Amino acid sequence: MFSYQAPQDLLAGRVILVTGAGDGIGRAAAHAYARHGATVVLLGRTLEKLELVYDELEAAGYPQPAIVPLNLETAAEHDYIELANQLQDTFGKLDGILHNAGILGPITSIEGYDPIIWQQVMQVNLNAPFLMTQTLLPLLRLAPEASIIFTSSGVGRRGRAHWGAYAVSKFGTEGLAQVLADELENISAIRVNCINPGATRTAMRVWAYPAENPQNNPAPEEIMPLYLYLMGPDSKAVNGQSLDAQGSGSA
Ligand code: NAP
Repeated sequence: MFSYQAPQDLLAGRVILVTGAGDGIGRAAAHAYARHGATVVLLGRTLEKLELVYDELEAAGYPQPAIVPLNLETAAEHDYIELANQLQDTFGKLDGILHNAGILGPITSIEGYDPIIWQQVMQVNLNAPFLMTQTLLPLLRLAPEASIIFTSSGVGRRGRAHWGAYAVSKFGTEGLAQVLADELENISAIRVNCINPGATRTAMRVWAYPAENPQNNPAPEEIMPLYLYLMGPDSKAVNGQSLDAQGSGSA
């Protein structure tokens, strides 16, 4: 596991947007960021799940979160502009984005892959994070220093049979992060990195590996040290990296 002990006030005063915040790793990240002082903007497609997380954060006494219901499969440019305007009016800046929402799509061959589903997976996993990041960059520039984290996967670094659009979208995500990191290096206080969560006990993992015992994988809460490290100021000098949440690195 990536080893990092976050100070309690790591993210105090920061506004952090988490996509896919209603479940799995995104929900755990929303908790971890709020516990360390952040005002978390909970974005996802299922309002009831976002409301549950909202209530949990409020009950824990963390900074009051915000909810943005948005389906990344159908969201268009005007939705992102509206999101930017809302964040600008409410908070006046944005200190970080965790691009976490994702869908798996079918585990099937390229030859047999449904082209419509291919586009859906690419839209949610790659195109939406691009559009959202592009629209929110001016707000990120208003923060003293900001962090953008994209979510990759082992199959986004080495292709594997039958992982189709999911794997290709994660290769694209790695590329997007590298290009953006290089563009922003030295001309902004925004850093851009990728996290590969590794096998984690979530609904997506169970769907991908139905025969596996879920208890053999760490819970989302256990992989949070890297998510905290890359979002907080201790990683200020880290840019353009793709790191493993369950890897051997430490900070
Ligand atoms: P998960 O439990 O399935 O959660 C995915 C989240 O994304 C859910 O909150 C889901 O919302 C949201 N989402 C899906 N489609 C969306 C859409 N169209 N618009 C808005 N939100 C949408 O998956 P997870 O395991 O936590 O995965 C989180 C990230 O880690 C993903 O990018 C995944 O590729 C990556 N990852 C996971 C593993 C693993 O072992 N779990 C390994 C490598 C990489 P709903 O709950 O409303 O559906």
